[in-house]
Amino acid sequence: MTAPVGRFAPTPSGRMHLGNVFAALLGWLSVKSRGGSFVLRMEDLDTQRTSDEFAEILRQDLRWLGLTWDLETEAQSKRSAVYDRYFEMLESQGLLYPCYCTRSQLHSVNAPHLSDGTYVYPGTCRNLSEQEKAAFGRVPAWRVKVPDKIWTVEDFVQGTYRENLATHCGDFVVRRADGVYVYQLAVTVDDGEAGVTEVVRGMDLLSSAPRQMYLQSLLGFEHPQYAHVPMLMAPDGRRLSKRDKDMDLGFLQQHLKPEQLVGILGHACGLLPKPVAISPQELALSFSWEKVRKEDIYLDISPFL
Ligand code: GLU
Repeated sequence: MTAPVGRFAPTPSGRMHLGNVFAALLGWLSVKSRGGSFVLRMEDLDTQRTSDEFAEILRQDLRWLGLTWDLETEAQSKRSAVYDRYFEMLESQGLLYPCYCTRSQLHSVNAPHLSDGTYVYPGTCRNLSEQEKAAFGRVPAWRVKVPDKIWTVEDFVQGTYRENLATHCGDFVVRRADGVYVYQLAVTVDDGEAGVTEVVRGMDLLSSAPRQMYLQSLLGFEHPQYAHVPMLMAPDGRRLSKRDKDMDLGFLQQHLKPEQLVGILGHACGLLPKPVAISPQELALSFSWEKVRKEDIYLDISPFL
């Protein structure tokens, strides 16, 4: 078997919070426990929210944690010419069409909303005539047609997850009207080109996996193995996010050593019987996905501070 290739693909829009650290740690442990390599990639498609300064702090934070990477691939904001090529590949398969729907149309009562905020696109612009397209007089977004087919994700943590894109989200946008490629396309191309064999990330992205598997199948990439790790929750039930300043690494570094933080997270997810200080290298020696819990993790870090 060839060595696995994992990746951490953060959005440099703020300081890492515990949830990001947790996903990065598990992704690193998974490949390093089997002699694999780890790729870092900055997902900075949203240039308004992201910055090179945050990207540099992220790298420092990963180094502080001891989560080394073997390669950093090009940031997404620099890759629109690459994405253009894959966009053309989809277009040549007759799978793309321009969509002129406005935001308010998309969010109208006619579009059923799913619990994760996704709505099912009803295919409004699928069959527009050239005349109808010209009449809009504006630059469209582009959608990819989805088949009525069930995609099965065999997830290391969550087990089997099935989804039919036709009923889950409908035809989805791959390039926005402002020309920016969407996360689903960029992540598929970047993981595929980097030869990523396993994608470890937060559970909130599980329902993106079928869209990415579909694009992988169209663009000629192998499906990676997936592991969607539990979300970390504050004791009061909130999901930890970038808004929780008290849980970002800037704050935590003032109170904890990296090995302590690794031990706390390793214990919280089931890898360690006690929250003892441990380096990622040591933890990798006994790592196994079978030990990792799949339910949300309520973590009260205050006793450790
Ligand atoms: N860039 C995404 C984030 O920071 C992660 C995307 C992924 O891992 O596929 O949440």
